[in-house]
Amino acid sequence: MRRPLVAGNWKMNGTRASVAELTESLRLQAFPAEVEVVVFPSSLHVMQVVDGLTNTSIGVGAQDCATDVGFGALTGEESVSQLADAGCEWVLVGHSERRLVLGDSDEMVSKKFMAALECGITPVLCVGETLEQREAGQTVDVVERQLAHVLADAGIEAFENAVVAYEPVWAIGSGLTATPQQAQEVHAAIRAQLAREDQRIADGIRLLYGGSVKAENAAELFGMADIDGGLIGGASLKANDFGAICRAAGN
Ligand code: PEP
Repeated sequence: MRRPLVAGNWKMNGTRASVAELTESLRLQAFPAEVEVVVFPSSLHVMQVVDGLTNTSIGVGAQDCATDVGFGALTGEESVSQLADAGCEWVLVGHSERRLVLGDSDEMVSKKFMAALECGITPVLCVGETLEQREAGQTVDVVERQLAHVLADAGIEAFENAVVAYEPVWAIGSGLTATPQQAQEVHAAIRAQLAREDQRIADGIRLLYGGSVKAENAAELFGMADIDGGLIGGASLKANDFGAICRAAGN
């Protein structure tokens, strides 16, 4: 039985004041005990959020990390060692905004994924196709290729301690959501790809859907056989909306 997971990606949002307010509001939400909840503030606010969520069950992660594990001369980057020291237990790798806008290659994504695991941080590997690729009928090929890179570099065993998030690029922040059937089809393909390497790991790994998830569409998406929760962007910035999505992942 896979424990549902709902993750909130706050992206490049927030000030110290608004982050304090959001954190405080999250403390007041009723989250179902069976759902694991994690938030990903900007790295600037990670320590504030870790402190603000002390004595709650909500985990904290970073939105990205350096490809190197330790410390060194890499201006502007944060390594997983630093993130772990700051209280992060999770990190997003390969978010489409990083792949498409900031130039993260498949090779970099693999390195970040492996760096996280080396430091005991759980990576959430994001994969997904653009609208052009979907319209060309390439969705499953694109996602399988992104996953294959990490599988080849990190090995199937690495996925025992990882999460994969399927996020169609055209659905992120656009208000367009994949239908539950569209999402399920890709999730099933991801699980099948992992199962070809190791059935037990494929059965145990949590696969999240991300892309304009809201309280209104969450339950239907999370009800699909291979969707184990969500990666939530915009709606995670409002505690009530995020709480409702987490409750939809329950029971
Ligand atoms: C995301 O950025 O990971 C995301 C899913 O965003 P949104 O929910 O706003 O589409």
